[in-house]
Amino acid sequence: MSNPDQTQRFLFDDTHIRGEITGLHSSYQEVLSKHNYPEPVQRLLGEFMAAVALLSDTLKFRGTLSLQVRGAGQVRMLMAECRNHEALRAIAQYNDDFSPEVDLLGKGQMAITIEPEKGKRYQGVVSIDDHQHSLERVLEDYFRQSEQIRTRVWLAADGQQAAGLLLQAMPQSASEGSLEMGDDDAWDRVVHLADTLTEAEMLSLDNATLLFRLFHEEKVRVFPGRDLRFECTCTRERCGNAILMLGQLEAEQIIAEEGYIQSDCQFCRQQYRFDQADVEALFADLRHRTN
Ligand SMILES: [Zn+2]
Repeated sequence: MSNPDQTQRFLFDDTHIRGEITGLHSSYQEVLSKHNYPEPVQRLLGEFMAAVALLSDTLKFRGTLSLQVRGAGQVRMLMAECRNHEALRAIAQYNDDFSPEVDLLGKGQMAITIEPEKGKRYQGVVSIDDHQHSLERVLEDYFRQSEQIRTRVWLAADGQQAAGLLLQAMPQSASEGSLEMGDDDAWDRVVHLADTLTEAEMLSLDNATLLFRLFHEEKVRVFPGRDLRFECTCTRERCGNAILMLGQLEAEQIIAEEGYIQSDCQFCRQQYRFDQADVEALFADLRHRTN
């Protein structure tokens, strides 16, 4: 497969075309190990994870990029995110009567959210309709409509590994506000070459072999790869903050009924339990901080 758990950027010299390639193994396996997903959902999760890894690597700043789908099909919700170009997590919720014959996502909406470490949060929404089911087409539409950047995406996942390839024709001069792409021939040529790639090749070839197999007649400049890993952002502190949001009265009521308040992270299955003393300490600390 592509170099496992890495993203790698490349450029076509003398053009305004750039590319990203990614392969996921351990990070993908770790996400799948948290829930007992049906196989089609496993593949969809892999494609989404590869997509956020690719898209995150196109960002020039640190922050979190996520894709979230709410569908009317078998998969009600699917979310994947990549933080600071390196930390991946993903989750899916699907119908209890899951059937692989029925459409996975159905009609729905996909949100692309970018939260820079510093600066404003951005969200774009694209609809998914009956005719445009693949994540590849949805992402390409998104870039065409909102960013006006010509983009092509290829994704593959088989429950063991996931892989992705992205090509983008960068605007030549942002200062002129012009989105003229330049080298049309080069774009058509590299897209045509990339279209010959099979899913099996994407999942089995390492980056160097894959790029050579596709683009050996082009001048490709490859940059060092960036490592990816599974990592969740949940913390005991955040769960504590959620309890503070409930308010002391409600928190104490739950303690009185249940004996404790427990929060299970859906992404990583980590359990956070707060007993009466913990909850009292949370609110005492809050009073201390606000006085
Ligand atoms: Zn977690």
